[in-house]
Amino acid sequence: MTVEELNLWYGDGTHALRDVTFDLYPREILAFIGPSGCGKSTALKVLNRMHDNDHGVRIEGRVLMHGEDVYARHVDPPMHRRQFGWVAQKPNPFPLSIWENVAYGPRIHGLKRTREELADHVEDCLRRAHLWDEVKDHLHDLEGTDLSGGQQQRLCIARALSTEPDVLLMDEPTGSIDPIATAAVEELAMELKHRLSIVLVTHSMMQARRVADRVAYFHLGELREVGPTELIFNAA
Ligand code: ADP
Ligand code: ADP
Repeated sequence: MTVEELNLWYGDGTHALRDVTFDLYPREILAFIGPSGCGKSTALKVLNRMHDNDHGVRIEGRVLMHGEDVYARHVDPPMHRRQFGWVAQKPNPFPLSIWENVAYGPRIHGLKRTREELADHVEDCLRRAHLWDEVKDHLHDLEGTDLSGGQQQRLCIARALSTEPDVLLMDEPTGSIDPIATAAVEELAMELKHRLSIVLVTHSMMQARRVADRVAYFHLGELREVGPTELIFNAA
């Protein structure tokens, strides 16, 4: 996907993105880094049209996915959003069973026809999120919120994968979990990128260095540098 000359203003006039241009390649982890308030979250949310319900947001420029402008009039935002999985900073599983956390999305989108197909898919998503062995005996009798913080975040990743997105958007996904759980999520991200693209917002340069293929450095709403992780960190 390609972002071209993107500008975004919030309703109060804040000019949060200034002429931002970058590509997201298939099967890469692109990390957004930069100081607090520089526009990382805004730039993440613009990709899947998460600002649509924020009152007064104005966007100029283009976000192209498969060559098509995702802000074009005929694009249906929910259909567009389906191509993305979202992982928030704070694990936010549904207050439902583990099974239901992962089965809900595919069911409402009609992705799996039979109960068997759905069961295989739920297992696959939980395996890909490295959670299956820990939860397989409690799919129906434990709720997502009964799990530890790190497990909850992996469940949220399984849920994000469940609708078969092309892109995973992760907004500081390790910002509220402990170092061991953080390492697990980083390892997971590096595996998952073999099948999709990941945009990772992080305040940690070290994390960007560990996991990102490329880094985009934001400052005051501008994208100051974007390039391979090695180049960005050695150029300093
Ligand atoms: P980061 O993720 O890098 O911390 P953000 O994208 O959250 O930065 O914020 C970029 C700028 O936009 C900041 O000045 C922030 O205060 C402002 N901002 C973010 N969200 C809103 C909003 N809903 N309304 C007005 N200003 C906002
Ligand atoms: P994050 O860095 O995860 O976006 P924040 O605490 O910065 O978390 O912001 C929480 C929410 O408040 C976000 O949805 C963000 O868009 C919004 N927000 C951030 N800054 C402002 C602001 N200056 N005015 C209004 N809303 C804001």
